[in-house]
Formats: sequence, structure tokens, C-alpha cells
Amino acid sequence: MSTPTPPRTFHVKSFGCQMNVYDGERMAELLAAQGMTAADARDEADLVVLNTCHIREKATEKVYSDIGRLRRDDGTSPLIAVAGCVAQAEGEEIMARAPAVKVVVGPQAYHRLPDMVAQAAAGKRATETDMPAEAKFAALPKRRRSGPSAFLTVQEGCDKFCTYCVVPYTRGAEISRPFADLVEEAKLLAAGGAREITLLGQNVNAWEGEDDKGRAVGLDGLIRALATDPDLARIRYTTSHPNDMTEGLIAAHGEVDKLMPFLHLPVQAGNDRVLRAMNRSHTVESYLKVLERVRAARPDIALSGDFIVGFPGETQQEFEDTLRLVDAVGYAQAFSFKYSARPGTPAATMPDHVPAAVMDERLRLLQDALNRDQHAFNAASVGRTCDVLVERRGRHEGQWLGKSPWLQSVHFTGEAQIGDLVRVELVEAGPNSLAGKVLAKVAA
Ligand code: SAM
Ligand code: SF4
Repeated sequence: MSTPTPPRTFHVKSFGCQMNVYDGERMAELLAAQGMTAADARDEADLVVLNTCHIREKATEKVYSDIGRLRRDDGTSPLIAVAGCVAQAEGEEIMARAPAVKVVVGPQAYHRLPDMVAQAAAGKRATETDMPAEAKFAALPKRRRSGPSAFLTVQEGCDKFCTYCVVPYTRGAEISRPFADLVEEAKLLAAGGAREITLLGQNVNAWEGEDDKGRAVGLDGLIRALATDPDLARIRYTTSHPNDMTEGLIAAHGEVDKLMPFLHLPVQAGNDRVLRAMNRSHTVESYLKVLERVRAARPDIALSGDFIVGFPGETQQEFEDTLRLVDAVGYAQAFSFKYSARPGTPAATMPDHVPAAVMDERLRLLQDALNRDQHAFNAASVGRTCDVLVERRGRHEGQWLGKSPWLQSVHFTGEAQIGDLVRVELVEAGPNSLAGKVLAKVAA
């Protein structure tokens, strides 16, 4: 039994990466443009969209438990749509396993969501997992409102085929959105309240296009163009591949003031044999060279990375090479994961899978080292002043939350408004955030 049709209220819940957060926002805009109203809580919504992540097994399993939890006490459930990468990879299985799901829509087809919801409301389950993304962006409504910090997807898909990763299968081949479309979307976001834009892509630094003068440009060309918008104060980008860190992009870090001093550059492992088995196409040395060049261009840059422990066949010595790499780099923050076998990827059928207990222990050791460095990076900030973009109110009376240029979370007190850039004195450091007080508002 389902909620009355057609649905009048909706709730979109996004799991996983920032690209999913962006997609979730676009789906919400699309549904609102149909006259539907966003509900804050999912039990108040006639339509619930679960925008899913397939990157690791745990992320995938969440979908099925969430579908179960959507069942109401009276036995009814909202109209459930499963979107995102699990929809792409396991659409048929979801339809078979979860009769409550009426719509399955892949990440490149969600512009069709309103039609599919209408079809489902009329009693017919709908599945759409077409791959090309070009049509999607053209069919989405124009951006209108934004918080102070906005995401903008510039590139989708991946041609790198790391042997552990599902992204090339769920998001498809690399495509770059056109320069003019991105400049327009950024302008609309800035006009709608954004002071900071984070450019997103699975391989964001593989973005390429033609600028307004018809010249071939890379991501640095796009960043330089966006930096001319006086309404925008900050630009960031994520996630990058080490092999796509071009000279131009590295130089931009030293030359474009609005480009924040932060680089998320996943390495995954600190051993060349493991990197080869992962098909990463970079070595430890070439990765470190990139970091050296970025640091030469922007000496205060904060570095971040992604790591996988327990890739099939990884020995203890090879894992210890990862710890050595971490010591050598000194990351300001990082993400680390236990290897998760993904069906259909080459690594899933490789021999010598690492036992779970060994992976647990390696992850613990790696995270101890990463936390140590993150804490040290934060502690070194105490006593400094920096600009913070005010994103929202904190939990305590008179408290604000925002980000430093180095992407540290800062909670602070003083005269401020959401969307302001304020100069803050950093007075205390914790492992995950800093405390500060406002000295002055920074002129726009
Ligand atoms: N494109 C980015 C790159 O080149 O690293 C990352 C994209 S992926 C969505 C984010 C992170 O998830 C990866 O950097 C990797 O650390 C992790 N990841 C991907 N597949 C994984 C797997 N099968 N098991 C564990 N972690 C995985
Ligand atoms: Fe996945 Fe590798 Fe592509 Fe990153 S570069 S999305 S890890 S295949």
C-alpha cells in the first residue's frame, strides 16, 4: 500500500560522495519545479528518493535497510525511488528484492525522475539507467538559490579503471560539461547566495573544454574564468587524479588568490607493486613529485588523500610503505578505507584477499598516523588569523560555523552573518575542528 497519488511532498536523502550531494540538490530542484514541496523529514514525505552509493559493500547495504525503515506503523510506505550508483549497478535486483521500490533511476538519467514518478503514481514501476549524461544537465531547471558554499559538477565518469573501483561502471565514461554552461551555472549560484564554489568530478582535473574565445582549456582555465566573478570569493575542486595535475593547474595554485590552498589528491597506497595491481598508473615517486611541485607553487597548501588498506595480496611490508608515505607527506586530513570487493571489478577475483582482522588492524594503524598529523596541522594553526566563510549557526548560543582556507572546520563567536567572510583569530585546536573569535568582517 502506498501514499495517495500523485505525491505532493518529497524528501531526497543522499549517501556517499559530494557528487551525490550535488545530484540530490538537482533532483530536489527538479521535483520542486513540478510544484512538489520539500519535506524535512522523510516520514512526512509522499515521495522518498534514496540517492545511493555503491563504492563499498557497506554503503550498498544501507539502501536495503533504509527501504525497510521507510515502512510506516500502519503498514503503508511512501512512494520510494532509488537513485544513484546502486540503482545503476543493481537496478533489477532492487526491483526484485524490494517491491516497495517503484522507481529506479541511474545517476545519468535522473532528469527523467518527474515522468517516472508520475508513471509510478499511476501504478507502473519505472526503471531508467541510460548512461550519457549530456541530456541530463540540459534538462535540469536553472539554479536559483544556494547556501554560502555550493557544489558544481563539472565532470562526470571515469576512464581510469582502477581495479578495485566501480565508478567507471556506475558513472560511465569521462565527460566534461561545456565551459559556457559551467560559467552560467556558477553565476547563478553566486547570484543565489554562493560565495564559495567547489568544482566536482570523479576526476575533476581531467576536465577539458573550450573557453569563450574558442581556446582549449583545462580545469585551470575554468578556475581562472570563474575567479573573475566578483560575487565569488573562493574556489575549490575535488577529486583529482595525480596524473591529471597539469602544470597549468599547479601554477593556478600560486596565481589565483580565490583558489583555496587545499588539495585532495588520493594516492591509495604507498607501495609501487600495490599501485600497479590497483592500475593506478602513478608511482609513489611520481605522486610525491606532484606534491613537491604543488608545494613549490603554494607553500601553505594543505594536503588530503584517500587510502585503501588490505588490497588483495597486500603484505605487511607493503602496508608499512603506506605508513612511511603518510609520515613523509604530513596530510592535513585524509580518508582511509578497508578494501571492499566490488562485484564485476578485476580486484574482486584476484587471489590472496586479506583477512578482515588484518585489515582492521592496518586501518587502525593508518588512522592513528593520519589523526596524529591532522591534529598537528590543526594545532599549528592556533595563534594565527585567517578568513572564514560563515556557513551556519553553531549548536551553542552566539556560535557560528565555517571553514578556513585550508578546509578546517572552525567554530567561533563574534559579529557575523551567514555568507560573510570574517577574519578570525584561531585560539584552540581539536582533532577535527578549531575554535576562534571574529576580529573583523572582510570586505567583499
Ligand atoms: N576518483 C578518485 C580517485 O581517483 O581516487 C576517487 C573516487 S572514489 C568515489 C573515492 C574513494 O573511495 C577512492 O579514492 C578510494 O579510496 C575509495 N574506494 C573506491 N573503491 C573502493 C573499494 N572497492 N574499497 C575500498 N575503498 C574504495
Ligand atoms: Fe575509481 Fe580510480 Fe576512477 Fe578514482 S580514478 S573514480 S578510484 S577508477
